[in-house]
Amino acid sequence: MNRSSRFRAGFLTMALLLTGLLIFAFPAAAEIDQLRVIVINVRQGDSTLVITPSGKTMLIDAGQSGSRYSPYYAGRDTVVPLLKSLGIERVDAIVVTHPHDDHVGGIPDVIEAFPVGTIYDSGYAHTITAYERMLELAEEKEIPVKVPIAGDLIPLCETVTVQVLAPTVPLERRGHLSIHDNMLVVRLEYGDFSFINTGDAEHSVEDLMMASGARLRSTVLNTGHHGSRTSTGVNFFYAVNPEVAVISAGKRNRFDHPHWEVANRLRKTTTRKLRTDYHGNILFESDGRTYDVTTRFYVDDREEG
Ligand SMILES: [Zn+2]
Ligand SMILES: [Zn+2]
Repeated sequence: MNRSSRFRAGFLTMALLLTGLLIFAFPAAAEIDQLRVIVINVRQGDSTLVITPSGKTMLIDAGQSGSRYSPYYAGRDTVVPLLKSLGIERVDAIVVTHPHDDHVGGIPDVIEAFPVGTIYDSGYAHTITAYERMLELAEEKEIPVKVPIAGDLIPLCETVTVQVLAPTVPLERRGHLSIHDNMLVVRLEYGDFSFINTGDAEHSVEDLMMASGARLRSTVLNTGHHGSRTSTGVNFFYAVNPEVAVISAGKRNRFDHPHWEVANRLRKTTTRKLRTDYHGNILFESDGRTYDVTTRFYVDDREEG
């Protein structure tokens, strides 16, 4: 082998290696035959990304907006960069569980960064800045905003069922209810794998969901209200009976989430416990039969703190 053919062989090996690495790191939409659910570490807040086997995307909440005193903007600093690193170019559905800033705060940044299909909203009118900005942007960009009710299905992908479990009460009869009692709760199912996202639903909503007779049993529970004692009642927990419970909370947060009552309840079960403040972004990948869990998915130094 002369010098130039050695060079060509070396170059070819390097090119093959690099291509292999790129395919491994960034699978194209067509090559994904798995459902992927990522509970994103947005510090004190909540945000979950769903990528279906056909490449459709749904974002449930997007963490907090920042302020002069708290310069962390979950949408700008975490959610948008993560979606871009994953090669996502469009968000087909956005679910806003309720208009508290630690859930809706990052949504305007997401709408500004990507084309969005439909927004699903709890219908609770709130004057918080991020929520008003979300509605303004939706109008400006002509994105439909729908207010679903328990039993409705969110159309996303043929193989993944996204069902609304709460609110169970029609919008016109919810005027007197609190923001947390208006919670938009969704459960998704792909074959044997399922994921329930309760937002900040408290015991009252958990009781209504149990009374509704809807299927609650789920592989993964995104634990209500960041592990607050106001959520995850014993009966609800056993109705969901999750194999994995995720708690989305910030390090040393001022609410002391998760509360010891919930942490203790989980400790006494065989359920695997994962926390975004310890485990970073938590990825679930399922082929509809089994599933894998990856912690600290796409975590780099910028996300620490
Ligand atoms: Zn809340
Ligand atoms: Zn919250």
